[in-house]
Amino acid sequence: MKIAVLGTGYVGLSTGVCLSEIGHEVICIDIDEDKVNRLRQGFSPIYEPGLEQLLMNNMNAERLHFTTSHKDAFGKSEIIIIAVGTPQQEDGSADLSYLDKAALDIAAHLMHDAIIVLKSTVPVGTNERIKKILLENCREGVKIEIVSNPEFLRQGSAIFDTMNADRIVIGSECKEASEKVREMYLPLNVPILLTSTRSAEMIKYASNAFLATKISFINEIANVCEAVGANIEEVAAGMGKDKRIGEAFLQAGIGYGGSCFPKDVKALLHTVKSFGIDFFMLQETVSINEHQRERLVIKALNRFGQLQGKRFAILGLAFKPDTDDMREAPSINIASSLTSLGAEVVAYDPVAIENAKKVIGDSILYVNSVEEAAKDADAVFIVTEWKEVKQINLSKLTATMKQPIIFDGRNCFEEDNIRTCPTIEYYPIGKPFIIIKNS
Ligand code: NAD
Repeated sequence: MKIAVLGTGYVGLSTGVCLSEIGHEVICIDIDEDKVNRLRQGFSPIYEPGLEQLLMNNMNAERLHFTTSHKDAFGKSEIIIIAVGTPQQEDGSADLSYLDKAALDIAAHLMHDAIIVLKSTVPVGTNERIKKILLENCREGVKIEIVSNPEFLRQGSAIFDTMNADRIVIGSECKEASEKVREMYLPLNVPILLTSTRSAEMIKYASNAFLATKISFINEIANVCEAVGANIEEVAAGMGKDKRIGEAFLQAGIGYGGSCFPKDVKALLHTVKSFGIDFFMLQETVSINEHQRERLVIKALNRFGQLQGKRFAILGLAFKPDTDDMREAPSINIASSLTSLGAEVVAYDPVAIENAKKVIGDSILYVNSVEEAAKDADAVFIVTEWKEVKQINLSKLTATMKQPIIFDGRNCFEEDNIRTCPTIEYYPIGKPFIIIKNS
């Protein structure tokens, strides 16, 4: 099929690349010229494992093209996928202005009938709103149908997730349009669910709200474990074996972040409010997450009394490993709390430093290795569980620190490993701390 994708962010680019990989002819459009120029040279503007290889393969096979011109892109496209951002506004609602603009761009340039697929995460009713914009602005005689097709990929494994989706949700009131979109995805050979438009929109929000709540739940259980002397990893393993609960999303830590959970949960709360109803549990999910982000700083305050003049290393800045995305990363809160309490902060991340500088600014120092960050530090804060962080040689690292103190927000190390250190103070999440003193 001939497909156009609007927006080459995490979702649009992964979708475009994967649809070309399964044989479709795909053209991706973005208003960001720099992005498009880099993509045309085969460079991905985002860090995603496996992405650049597929990008090159499909560009070389001439199945994948990039442009800034909507006119060029819609030429022959049967399906136009919208994957522009829907960021959070101050009141928590989703900002639909990029989407409205994308609909107007389509209407202005579309000369033939097409199916418009809305992949961006949007509040219930948005597909109807976009359809209205299209119908009011498209050229006379041009017929469009709209299909809701929310995306569930995870950053850091976007390509794998797209090629091996747990399910693809296709929501529309037009059976032929749903069928056509189903046909587009058939080569992926994954479960496909056809629903109404509003159900498809709700499935996305309900899924993210549930996952965020599962994270906040396990983080609260971790805090209880700390108080009562249990071990969250043993507790989560025991819970996860129950098929009704499942093992995924039971890793306690310092809270969820990223471009989706925080904004989608808040957008759902905003929708709920606009319908005059309450969702008390989801409100708690948000406040638990906000508290959890401060967990390591509270542990540091308990340990040191006050943080003025201390030198701390933050290991990992991205909101999770295998991505350079800093949106809503817990590192932002931790860096800000530590500096406002008078500490000097030195941070390292394998790929997110440039993005971190844009958000955190120059209130902290950025360095190029774990070792540089930890040298002479009063404590290390582990914020993102990058593979290279999990593989740290703790004995060697702590030997270079001013004080061998580690606050681990991601429970990166086994007890046996920690106990090989001649001297260490190790404070994890939801497990007993370990103190080994050099006698
Ligand atoms: P992003 O901000 O990374 O990318 C959006 C892209 O759209 C940008 O490159 C921007 O330049 C481009 N754009 C904006 N207006 C345009 C227009 N009129 N024409 C062409 N391009 C335009 O966003 P993202 O992270 O890919 O998210 C896109 C949507 O998918 C959001 O609604 C998000 O909530 C949802 N989603 C994201 C993820 C994720 O993990 N990032 C997962 C599932 C769903």
